[in-house]
Amino acid sequence: MVYTDLNTPIRTIMTPGPVEVDPRVLRVMSTPVIGQFDPEFLNIMNETMDLLKYVFQTNNQWAYPVDGTSRSGLEAMLCSVIEPGDKVLVPIFGRFGHLIYEIASRYHADVYTIEKEWGEVFDPEEIITAIKKINPKLVAIVHGETSTGRLQPLEELGKFCRENDILLVVDAVATLGGVDVKTDDWCLDAVIAGTQKCLSVPSGLAPLTYNDRIEKILLERKNIERGLSEGSINKRRIQSNYFDLSQIQDYWSPDRLNHHTEATSMLYALREGLRLVKEEGLKARFERHLLNEKALLAGLKALGVELFGDNRYKMPVVTCINIPDGINDESVRATLLHDFGIEIAGTFGPLKGQIWRVGTMGYSCSKKNILHFLGAFEAVLIKEGAQVNRGEGLQAALQVYDNIRGE
Ligand SMILES: *Cc1c(COP(=O)(O)O)cnc(C)c1O
Repeated sequence: MVYTDLNTPIRTIMTPGPVEVDPRVLRVMSTPVIGQFDPEFLNIMNETMDLLKYVFQTNNQWAYPVDGTSRSGLEAMLCSVIEPGDKVLVPIFGRFGHLIYEIASRYHADVYTIEKEWGEVFDPEEIITAIKKINPKLVAIVHGETSTGRLQPLEELGKFCRENDILLVVDAVATLGGVDVKTDDWCLDAVIAGTQKCLSVPSGLAPLTYNDRIEKILLERKNIERGLSEGSINKRRIQSNYFDLSQIQDYWSPDRLNHHTEATSMLYALREGLRLVKEEGLKARFERHLLNEKALLAGLKALGVELFGDNRYKMPVVTCINIPDGINDESVRATLLHDFGIEIAGTFGPLKGQIWRVGTMGYSCSKKNILHFLGAFEAVLIKEGAQVNRGEGLQAALQVYDNIRGE
């Protein structure tokens, strides 16, 4: 096994997050910390906000990170917008839909759910029918459901919600930076992302963006807060201090009103990660993810393993493989990790033990990693006694890369 000089192992990470971090991001994290009101720091905040608007494909005024892992952004958005008793519709098609449901109910929303079998997505009409019946204030839904590897189309839903004055909040934690997330074109009111997936930055910040429809609610609730004396109770008050977006917005506004102490080294990391996205360009970045996915799929097909889920709605950055009969989930993953230094993922809930998930996100999404994984995967499957087409997987993947070179 390969270790760094600080005694941490060097891995090939092919999971749906956390993924490998670009060396430039790692380097910037070890640069000196500066004060949070240092004018240089304010410049870093401004540049980060501008870069986020580029990646979120939005002209929204507000795009900034919440400090914490990706779910902190989800919780901040939901707790700042949901008032007790508000009707919220959560369409669930995997684990992270359940997370949204759980957070919304903790903040005393009147939560309605509709569910799809894991491996499928919703036809927009199904959600629209539920909206017409329930008439919610807000719909909160996952874009890329990492637990099942499915991508939910959002455009039609976005237009319907906008026309009917319903808010649409989207968990794009696993898609931002690897797959198109068109905040403005798709009429998404709020979008929450994460750093450790397609942005290839360590876990620890949750970038988000929202429009003036959301801001209006934040400002109303802030004014209530101003009218309250310390400790007094009003049920419309935002129930969390740490996650109060009206205050965090003030912190990121030109006034820079103090709220928390920004996680300096993480902000350096995010800015660098976003610069890398901008330098590559969103279009080229999405194409890179599609090309590597194509090579991986060609390789797996030729090897003779089966994919899981409705292929029309597959996330390009997560590939789910049915675990062949008689093959042990954990034993395969342990051998890949210990003998090849490669990490892939199992999954949760009803699919646990039935599928493997291979992530091809951000810096981890490279030709080298795809080929390394396909070779190792074949070797481990053979060792475990699975029937595979020996030697064919890698050849098929190489063919995909060669064809591109020839074009
Ligand atoms: C990873 C992930 C999350 C949660 O992220 P944490 O950083 O673990 O809080 C939420 N939603 C989706 C779709 C994810 O893939």
